[in-house]
Amino acid sequence: MSQRLTMAIPSKGRLREPSWTLLEASGVAPQMPGERVLQTYCRNADIDLLFVRADDIPEYVQDGVVDCGITGLDLVAESGCAVDTLLELDFGFCSLQVAVPLEDSAREVSDLDGRRIATSHPGIAAEAFRLRGMTVELITVGGSVEITPRLGLSDAIVDLVSTGSTLRTNGLRSLGSIFESEAAVIGPRAGVVAGDLKTLITMLQAVVEARKSRYLLFNVPATSLADVIDVLPSAGSPSVVQLADQSVVAVQTVVPSSSIWQLLPELEARGASAILTLPIERMVR
Ligand code: AMP
Repeated sequence: MSQRLTMAIPSKGRLREPSWTLLEASGVAPQMPGERVLQTYCRNADIDLLFVRADDIPEYVQDGVVDCGITGLDLVAESGCAVDTLLELDFGFCSLQVAVPLEDSAREVSDLDGRRIATSHPGIAAEAFRLRGMTVELITVGGSVEITPRLGLSDAIVDLVSTGSTLRTNGLRSLGSIFESEAAVIGPRAGVVAGDLKTLITMLQAVVEARKSRYLLFNVPATSLADVIDVLPSAGSPSVVQLADQSVVAVQTVVPSSSIWQLLPELEARGASAILTLPIERMVR
């Protein structure tokens, strides 16, 4: 293998665009490939990028064709390849759900014992049903799984769901999830994460962490400081700066983006003013 790091990224589908955006945000500056080009390189780092199908990436990584790759954890599990997850990327969220037509009598997954179930994830599905002690007839299809009950090919399906709208559109009802997935960087099983690969993972992680957080600044009367600190979800101690007006302090901290909706009214109610939230570009803990 060459000295340059090689990374496989999805050539099409849902994971292509967010993978590309993540690489750009991490600062490695991937060179935009020309039409139909299957390889490119990064301008700021010794990294070659290979565009391949997301479902081929686990095998490329396992076989050492590339040093690492971005793909969905569902595809990793389905492939059965010997690879390790190096970093979960906080996009490409979906779950493999078991679903039946609205009119079906099944209420839970175990009600499907002995029935025909179509899926394009037969490996994960077989394991999930085996663990539940169920015997089902699995029908493997390449795509459009949700149409198979209406075609009379299956009684139920196991398919990827993110919002549930495709299930609803096709008159299907979920009985529950058997696998939770998101996009991840994978590397060879028990491979050494050092040198350029370690740097790449650190840079990607800095962006992933930053996206999940907001920089929060506000002023508060010094007498309310303890009250306000009480409701801050931040892990570390916030910075507190004395203002020229000695009765007021400015507070700065990092909080989870998901907490903002609930937090701002609470801060306001405790006397905070001039509340600002700012996006963070990178964050290394
Ligand atoms: P695609 O190439 O677009 O068919 O999907 C590739 C991967 O995107 C899947 O294997 C999942 O890891 C991920 N994904 C995220 N959300 C969904 C979804 N709603 N349906 C299918 N795949 C999804």
